[in-house]
Amino acid sequence: MANSLLTLSSEVKYLKGVGPARSELLAARGIHTVEDLLYYTPFRYEDRTRITRIRDLVPGQTTTVLAKVLTCGLMRTRKGLYIYDLAATDLSGMLRCKWFNAVYLEKHKVFRQGQRVFFYGKVERDPFGTGNLQIVQPQFEILPESAEEGAESLEVGRVVPIYESVGTLGTRVLRRLISAALTALEAQIPDHLPESVRQRNKLVDRGPALRLTHFPDGERPIEEVASFRTPAQIRVIFEEFFAVGAGLALKRRKAKAAAGIEFHVTEGVRQAIKQILPFHPTGAQKRVLKEIADDMCSPRPMNRLLQGDVGSGKTIVAVQAALLAMENGHQVALMAPTEILATQHYLYIKDLLAPLRYEVDLLISARKAAEKSELKRRIARGEVHLVVGTHALIEEDVSFARLGLAVVDEQHRFGVMQRFKLIRKGATPDVLVMTATPIPRTLALTLYGDLDFSVIDELPPNRTPIETRQIFERDRAQAFEFIGDKVRRGGQAYVVYPVIEEGGKLDLKPAVRMYDHLSRNVFPEFRLGLLHGRLPSDEKEGVMQRFKRGEVQVLVSTTVVEVGVDVANATVMLIEHADRFGLAQLHQLRGRIGRGKAKSTCLLLAEEPLTDVASERLRTMTETTDGFRIAEIDLKLRGPGEFFGTRQWGIPTFRVANLLRDQEILDWAKREASDFVERPASRQEFEAFVTYLRAHWPRRYGLASVA
Ligand code: ADP
Ligand code: MG
Repeated sequence: MANSLLTLSSEVKYLKGVGPARSELLAARGIHTVEDLLYYTPFRYEDRTRITRIRDLVPGQTTTVLAKVLTCGLMRTRKGLYIYDLAATDLSGMLRCKWFNAVYLEKHKVFRQGQRVFFYGKVERDPFGTGNLQIVQPQFEILPESAEEGAESLEVGRVVPIYESVGTLGTRVLRRLISAALTALEAQIPDHLPESVRQRNKLVDRGPALRLTHFPDGERPIEEVASFRTPAQIRVIFEEFFAVGAGLALKRRKAKAAAGIEFHVTEGVRQAIKQILPFHPTGAQKRVLKEIADDMCSPRPMNRLLQGDVGSGKTIVAVQAALLAMENGHQVALMAPTEILATQHYLYIKDLLAPLRYEVDLLISARKAAEKSELKRRIARGEVHLVVGTHALIEEDVSFARLGLAVVDEQHRFGVMQRFKLIRKGATPDVLVMTATPIPRTLALTLYGDLDFSVIDELPPNRTPIETRQIFERDRAQAFEFIGDKVRRGGQAYVVYPVIEEGGKLDLKPAVRMYDHLSRNVFPEFRLGLLHGRLPSDEKEGVMQRFKRGEVQVLVSTTVVEVGVDVANATVMLIEHADRFGLAQLHQLRGRIGRGKAKSTCLLLAEEPLTDVASERLRTMTETTDGFRIAEIDLKLRGPGEFFGTRQWGIPTFRVANLLRDQEILDWAKREASDFVERPASRQEFEAFVTYLRAHWPRRYGLASVA
């Protein structure tokens, strides 16, 4: 195909310079079409309008140098370390570059004498040698020896885009391919953003926006380019957020139009709730219950996310919602991520509802086959009113007679698909998903754009704040003494171990070993329990029950206690290898204590030396117990990619936009998007954009259907 026939949807293999091998590499990165390639944007820019002469280099400065290779080769230090050492000159002086352990540079003969190379990095004085200037591990780009005509203008004397390599395709190759695609296409890049939106927000057109995002033209200050805030870059980021915002707004509109169950708050409901409530709900609990009840009483299906920090009391809110459903003659399913938590919920709810006439049961895979099939029969006949369970609830052969409310606890532990599977067990049940893992406030609404949102922002009364201390191995004896003291006075303690993965297998030994050691040598006078995921179900449950009743005083556990477990008398937690846990996980674990009136203490035992990130995480833990604050820091430390990790959140994947960097554009684009969906300037504009979204949504944003 000639380049002149190239369109955005052409496969990349039709681009000049892309053969089968390269197109395979690109495909592995999700780059299939020319459009995909154009949205593969630089992760930074290098200002090569200002190339520094070697003579003018200043230690401490981060800069670009263009120099010719004089000598290069691998050296070995006396300690056996490999260093790749290179000397280069630009006639004004000489610069050394060093790469540690870079055997590959030698093996692949990357550098040769006489090559012209851009080096980019921080200049420093060689601390061992002659005080020469050097750059350690510089980024580099080798210029072709016989530069094709025009090729050089992409590399020199301008602000140059730097791309993350795609397999073996380096930044220079990508730059050339993208430049070629832009040249071939420029006049034919249709703009799918609605005209009215573009005009109102004074957005650059798509073609120029893409070109200037890849190849800034020197009109804008380099600082603006580097922070992705040129009008061109803003347009490309906006476009991505706008599409997602509009898609979610459409989804929401559709959900709101569907027919659901209309529950009624009857006198019976009020009486039932009054009869079972073990305490006075907090103001926040009352408020969210009202939001939930309003949803359930409307003729539309509820889709609500209930967020509340660990220990804020979500369970009782769910139980009240369940009563509303059951009093109206419907069944309720409550799904939890672990057997321990499901069992705990089951026992708690069964106890709570004992004065009423409801059948409550537990569906987990650990139960005997005969019991399970009998239970499934009763669920299908509508004889069980409230079923608590794990993933076992969404198996094929589970069906409900009249599922009216589906509750998913600790929903961040489930995939989006699992949520849908549970929902499909009913006609159009109301759905309540609960999570304690806080999503930074600013992002929550966007990410869960198809859900309504309730927040419990108040803890039950009489909680004493948890004190958190970070300690090292040398403090261990003292820590054990502290725990012993608390337990002797009637308290209970958790000792938590990370489960270490070794060669793909979970290594439970450290926890088991510690249990033995503690039982025999440290706390021989106490009753200890051991809990980990590999124990048979009834054993897990047995240990948990004994801990709840206070018979087990010190519970040695892996992270299976991370979610939901509620034992108010436990007031100490020692977390071993605390440096190996993520912030969210530490916060969840710590949430197991501080559930009663007595003061609780959390000891984070870490191994030295701490990495910067680990030490920041631990400091955060000692400084705050506010889950939202912790989530914000977690997001900063990990970056959005890792924070949201897998697709489990059901969050769109952004190609250009960065959730951390671009929050204000996100808010703006989202406002514009819902405005557009509610009040489009014209019918045609609306239809055209919806058509575009339908075609691009699933592949582009990794979300299920729009509308
Ligand atoms: P989470 O939101 O983490 O799931 P839970 O529902 O497990 O929290 O509640 C934590 C603890 O607080 C439980 O022991 C629960 O009984 C208690 N609790 C919840 N709400 C109140 C309240 N309004 N007053 C007193 N205690 C409460
Ligand atoms: Mg809970």
